[in-house]
Amino acid sequence: MTFAIHGLAVARGIAIGRAVLVASSRVDVAHYFIEPSQVESEIDRIRIGRNAVVDEILRLQASLMNKGPREAPHELTALLDVHLMLLQDVELIAGVKHWITHRLYNAEWALTTQLEVIARQFDEMEDEYLRGRKADLEQITEKVLRAMNGVASAVVPAPARTVRKKSQQDLLLDDTVDVPLILIAHDLSPSDMLQFKQSVFAGFITDVGGKTSHTAIVARSLDIPAVVGARLSSQLVRQDDWVIIDGDAGVVVVDPSPIILAEYGFKQRQGELERGRLSRLLNTPAVTLDGQKIELLANIEMPEDAPGAVKAGAVGVGLFRSEFLFMGRQGKLPNEEEQYQAYKRAIEGMQGLPVTIRTVDVGADKPLDKALMDGAHLNPALGLRAIRWSLADPAMFLTQLRAILRAAAHGQANLLIPMLVHASEIRHTMALIDRARVELDNRGVAYGPLKIGAMIEIPAAALTLKVFLKYFDFLSIGTNDLIQYTLAIDRADESVAHLYDPLHPAVLRLVAGTIAEGRAQGKPVSVCGEMAGDVSLTRLLLGMGLRSFSMHPAQILAVKQEVLRADTSKLAGWAEQVMSDDEPALRMARH
Ligand code: PEP
Ligand code: MG
Repeated sequence: MTFAIHGLAVARGIAIGRAVLVASSRVDVAHYFIEPSQVESEIDRIRIGRNAVVDEILRLQASLMNKGPREAPHELTALLDVHLMLLQDVELIAGVKHWITHRLYNAEWALTTQLEVIARQFDEMEDEYLRGRKADLEQITEKVLRAMNGVASAVVPAPARTVRKKSQQDLLLDDTVDVPLILIAHDLSPSDMLQFKQSVFAGFITDVGGKTSHTAIVARSLDIPAVVGARLSSQLVRQDDWVIIDGDAGVVVVDPSPIILAEYGFKQRQGELERGRLSRLLNTPAVTLDGQKIELLANIEMPEDAPGAVKAGAVGVGLFRSEFLFMGRQGKLPNEEEQYQAYKRAIEGMQGLPVTIRTVDVGADKPLDKALMDGAHLNPALGLRAIRWSLADPAMFLTQLRAILRAAAHGQANLLIPMLVHASEIRHTMALIDRARVELDNRGVAYGPLKIGAMIEIPAAALTLKVFLKYFDFLSIGTNDLIQYTLAIDRADESVAHLYDPLHPAVLRLVAGTIAEGRAQGKPVSVCGEMAGDVSLTRLLLGMGLRSFSMHPAQILAVKQEVLRADTSKLAGWAEQVMSDDEPALRMARH
């Protein structure tokens, strides 16, 4: 039966495919396709892993038997029996073989997929004891996965398979491996999401998350349809169901009828045609009708994104979120050399175009490591994140500053500092930058010049620009956080997502004021939050005087199209009117 789930639109476009449900804790399991000739060896890998766990349990049972009943409580021996039984479970074994043989999933992916199928059945059981066995199943699966880690994979992961284009009818009838896959999880951390770059998945759905949560931001950078905040989707959708993601409307359609499938297939083709049309603008300079040159820059997460940014027509990187180099490493931070190489790769990847590297911004919804989230900090978004975290650990910060300074010797680089608010933080930061230079001088290591900018993403910063303009060469407005902190709306919380409003008059006033004051002082101002890539806001930002936009590479051409159609001499007066309106969104809609 067809039904729809409403969530938040994150990344544009339509994806149609089969659901792959992944428990949040297991997303870092490898997901790749094997070759048909590798099916047997992949099944062997599971067998070896399972046998290792069986042996371990048998050994434990034997040692307990030798100890007698006092040290071998009945509950423990019974539990081990249950584990042995689950390991021999016919449905588990048959299911895993099915995913490997018919879908060509690698062994770990097949095992976790089948775990999700069976876990769902446990959830639906009336009997509490049986429902409780789900935890045992999860435990033994984890053990098998761990045991398999010790078994060298007989296969080299095949590159993500390109999915053949199919007609809608084909899609309905199809039961072969060549269909797009849509990942569904309760939650994904930003670093989980990053793992899926170049992955096998054609779209993503999560139960939780806001539109400008960092998970959504990474999903957008992957440029594939995604919906977040689609509550309960991971419970309502079953493994292998057909699903449609409408990334424009934020809707997920489950088990679509042929008519609905045909309709969305049509929409999907329209989207592809539109992309084709936009690609003609690639080499067109971004100049408005009245001759204003507009700078369209890219936001990137990893150095490897740089060539893609150049290809998408970016004239530089306006925001390199360096924290992604620090995340998902079990708290082990990258050293100076590793960071230097990464920044250098980004700079070289941009082929002479400027790269703005933001110092690490971890904390809030970007923990260094999922395992390190202790729940002790009640308001992490107001806590020790971004520059506060850096200033709290000067040795770590100096390491990053030295690495960036060294990389700046290889091309045009700018340094961007996130979340500043106090003059004392600014002075402290500047002192550490000076110290990093001195340390490199003392070591006799070469480094390059850096322009230094501040992110304006806290209302208090936007209201006290004088001190920022005194110290910094440029400003970059982080509208994602500026909105979060102005409206007191957690950007990662889908339950208040409807109140997260870039067009709130207070937000517009802070953004416009920053642009105007920066320009009056002759200091470049750019916007690098999600507002910069939202085509419905391009003309408003141009009307406010913005001339530099930084966004996901995939958004550049659509924004350029808006720029080419705009006349800033006419937009300034209109922008004034929008800002003075009680409800700017209504006035925008009328324009
Ligand atoms: C912002 O806050 O707008 C921004 C660009 O930084 P981040 O999204 O990484 O917090
Ligand atoms: Mg921010």
